[in-house]
Amino acid sequence: MRTAVVVGAGIGGLAVAGGLARSGWQVTLLEAADRVRAERMALILWPNGVRALRALGLGDGLDAIATPLPDAGVRRPDGQWLVQPRARGEGGGPVVVHREDLHDALVAGLGDKVDIHTGVRVRSVRLGDDRTSVGTGRVTFEADLVVAADGVDSVVRQQLAPQSRVVSSGCAAWRAVIPWYQAPQFPDDQTLVGEVLGAGYRFVAASLGVRGSSGGSSRGGIYWVATATGAPRPEAPATQLALLRRWFDRWPAPIGDLLAATDPEHLVQQEVRELRPLPGSYAFASGTGGVALLGDAAHAMPHHLGQGACLAFEDAATLRSVVRDAVPGEALRAAVQTYHRLRRPRVEAAVRQTRRMSAVLGARGRLALRARDAALGTITSRLVGRVAADAAQWTPPV
Ligand SMILES: Cc1cc2nc3c(=O)[nH]c(=O)nc-3n(C[C@H](O)[C@H](O)[C@H](O)COP(=O)(O)OP(=O)(O)OC[C@H]3O[C@@H](n4cnc5c(N)ncnc54)[C@H](O)[C@@H]3O)c2cc1C
Repeated sequence: MRTAVVVGAGIGGLAVAGGLARSGWQVTLLEAADRVRAERMALILWPNGVRALRALGLGDGLDAIATPLPDAGVRRPDGQWLVQPRARGEGGGPVVVHREDLHDALVAGLGDKVDIHTGVRVRSVRLGDDRTSVGTGRVTFEADLVVAADGVDSVVRQQLAPQSRVVSSGCAAWRAVIPWYQAPQFPDDQTLVGEVLGAGYRFVAASLGVRGSSGGSSRGGIYWVATATGAPRPEAPATQLALLRRWFDRWPAPIGDLLAATDPEHLVQQEVRELRPLPGSYAFASGTGGVALLGDAAHAMPHHLGQGACLAFEDAATLRSVVRDAVPGEALRAAVQTYHRLRRPRVEAAVRQTRRMSAVLGARGRLALRARDAALGTITSRLVGRVAADAAQWTPPV
């Protein structure tokens, strides 16, 4: 039986481990943490992410937990439209899911065919003519295929593509889910805020499920994410929240109400980081197959266009498809290279678009700001349209 070792049980690792196991691979999943768990947070999935999950056979689980996101447009802090709301075109729009729900669906998708080891931190990877392995310093795991899904600080990537460095994206993000019982009441919870974009600041909010109806999830509420240029704040969460309230004071309603209703305990701050340059390759042929980089390990990028997890699912669906009929040996080594060829241009395009958005968000100086304000509507509109079009068009290889 063909064997795979997946390093990292984040959403990318879980998706690919389940996908491979369902197509007959014997999969070992190694996770450094003492248990496999999700953040108490939400995630926006664009149609490409949804399509990738469907290709991995997880469509039914997803339908039960996803809330469609209506297009609420993009506004300036003064309320003016940068991008007017539009009817969703073909291919539908994004959905919002609670990460814990998604995680449960991914874990359910592992079935009983994946051998999960928690508390196992991989420290090394070995390529060779006859075998491929990862090691912890005490134990070695050998396989035909090794998938590095160990996140932005990936040890496997650091060893195979050391020129690719993790750098700060120059901004920090704060997120929270306000459970329905604590959420302020609005006339229409479904069209809450959409996106508001100002000089160095951005705020996005969405309803997670429907108030008063748990649907498939018991974790509904209002999800919001705020982004600000600069470093993460060292203060306690309550002080961070006070800062956010000051920064976003006078932004369109109901941003103030959402920040006021957020419990500091629910606030998660994160430095936003990315890979520069991207790894030169996403695949390393070795032994009877090789190593594939997947998810943030391959292409961590700022969250401005909501594509990180979507691309991780695309990676997983693509990898599963290209290795489906490959026999260990030359065929599997070639399939691993095909994965790189299919993924690289797609990821590069997404990274380019994300960097443009980072530049728009981070423009500094009076002149830059004036130019930015003049161009903001056009650039944002073009970028948002482009991302939506790319997301709508992507299909997994058959
Ligand atoms: C503020 C913010 C908002 C975002 N919003 C969105 C969004 O709306 N939509 C979207 O698509 N994306 C979004 N993203 C991006 C998304 O969260 C990531 O791209 C995604 O979670 C990456 O998943 P992963 O499985 O590749 O990595 P991770 O989730 O980082 O998982 C890596 C796993 O590997 C384990 N691990 C690490 N090192 C080792 C080791 N040496 N040995 C064994 N195990 C190891 C870790 O413990 C972890 O479990 C957002 C990101 C941020 C910061």
